[in-house]
Amino acid sequence: MRPTLLTATLLLTVTVAQAAQQPNILFLFSDDHALRTIGSYEGSINSTPNLDRIAHEGAIFDRSFNVNSICCPSRAAILTGKHSHANGITGNGSRWDGKQWVYPRALAAAGYQTGLIGKWHLAGNPTDEFQSWEILTGKGGQGSYYNPRFLSAAGESKVEGYSTDIITDKSLDWLKNRDATKPFLLCAQYKVPHIHRIPSPRHIGLYDEVEFPEPTTLFDDYATRQPFVKDVWMGLRGMQGHVLNVAPTKKELAANPRSMPSFLQEMTPSQRDAWHKAYDSRNLELRRLQNNGLLDGQAGLRYTYQRFIKDYVRCIDGLDDNVGRILKYLDDNDLTQNTIVIYSSDQGFLTGEHGWAEKRWMYEESFRSPLLIRWPAAIKPGTRVSALVQNIDLAPTLLTAAGVSVPDEVHGVPLQPVLDGTTPDNWREDILYQYFDGGTPAARGAYNMPRHNGVRDSRYKLIHFYDHDAWEFYDLQADPREVSNRYRHPRYQDEITRLKQRLVALKQQYGVLEPPKLISKHSRQSKHGKQTEPQTE
Ligand code: CA
Repeated sequence: MRPTLLTATLLLTVTVAQAAQQPNILFLFSDDHALRTIGSYEGSINSTPNLDRIAHEGAIFDRSFNVNSICCPSRAAILTGKHSHANGITGNGSRWDGKQWVYPRALAAAGYQTGLIGKWHLAGNPTDEFQSWEILTGKGGQGSYYNPRFLSAAGESKVEGYSTDIITDKSLDWLKNRDATKPFLLCAQYKVPHIHRIPSPRHIGLYDEVEFPEPTTLFDDYATRQPFVKDVWMGLRGMQGHVLNVAPTKKELAANPRSMPSFLQEMTPSQRDAWHKAYDSRNLELRRLQNNGLLDGQAGLRYTYQRFIKDYVRCIDGLDDNVGRILKYLDDNDLTQNTIVIYSSDQGFLTGEHGWAEKRWMYEESFRSPLLIRWPAAIKPGTRVSALVQNIDLAPTLLTAAGVSVPDEVHGVPLQPVLDGTTPDNWREDILYQYFDGGTPAARGAYNMPRHNGVRDSRYKLIHFYDHDAWEFYDLQADPREVSNRYRHPRYQDEITRLKQRLVALKQQYGVLEPPKLISKHSRQSKHGKQTEPQTE
């Protein structure tokens, strides 16, 4: 039947009304997710069909960066749309000021129902940033992979099961029980794949017969870098014990129950049985290799990398199938068309690149964050965005989508102009990075890391280790893996001078206070050796 003028008018009216409707927002977030473990990113080593669905039905961002690549500062930057020096969360030990402006409160004022479920990980529990919240608690805000405890305004509870599954269960319950007359903002924030990685029972047995590709920089000799770079405490080489799921076997623990590590004590007997079924044979093989001298030299690093990356990918598998559950709920409840789905992580992660398993650096693997956005009303399927964007842009993007004006104090800018995959002429040409949680030459900071800041544009990167009066410069087009610091190279001196000027200008633009406050006055070496991060970070 051909539409009459009346039905056409009605259809047009409905369409206009739908377009004016505030979109729902589902913000899916993880912790330490490396881009190379998302199927739709270049160089991926694994398969993530559900995350890829967000990318294929929306946009994938190739140049999404952090303002400060560690957990708490990233979360604060997203909530406030501001660089760390302005929101007060410069390091993981900074105290959260919950009274400052945050975007979820602005959305609530504009009629949204807002909720947060999962990992909050700021020092200071939420108050009224979200209308409802239920966060992982214990272990310095990290929570447990198995049988985690949650905190809400109503108090604390313990839930049996696996963290990623439970956060999804709670998120689905929140969606089912919401006030459907209002648009929603739901932030589902996962613990995976943060150290100490324990996969779900569904994925714990995978990949014994698989060898994952090694990063080409696994054996980086740091030859052109500043001398302190090789001395940081984040090497894969030093990983051992429970961070690699190395523990006594079930039989050994039966003979000596007091030697059971705490992460196994937290499990139910059946969860523990599943863990032993997967890891006992791996750990016996590890001892055989060690006892026969087969893990000396490079073989040891290669082995550790495989142990590490397999657990990492198993944790991502658990994330991916839970993302699928949430996407299916949107499909089944007619919410797909009018919901902005964002997937991101608090930062990227060095998964063996330069021999490290950490973040914090302005080097690409940790500086970049995964960012996928599906928004049928505004983004064509299969869009690839190469404009320079930062995590401070998410708040203004969501406010703009909801028809809420962005306060002048916010540093980020709405992403709407780049959502078609083009980069307008007036888009930003470079971005500022600031990492504060390190030490001076006199006082080693967390992980023996130096503080640094820097500027990156579409081709070049300049890093200033200001406490050491030292610089690095990379040509990302010629050297995408950042193994050749060309700060002294005559050919690049004009670019370096230009980027130094840009660094000064960006700091002025964002009102950076100098000198930056020193956070870590004392050496903080992990009890697990010179590799890895404490459970509190
Ligand atoms: Ca993190």
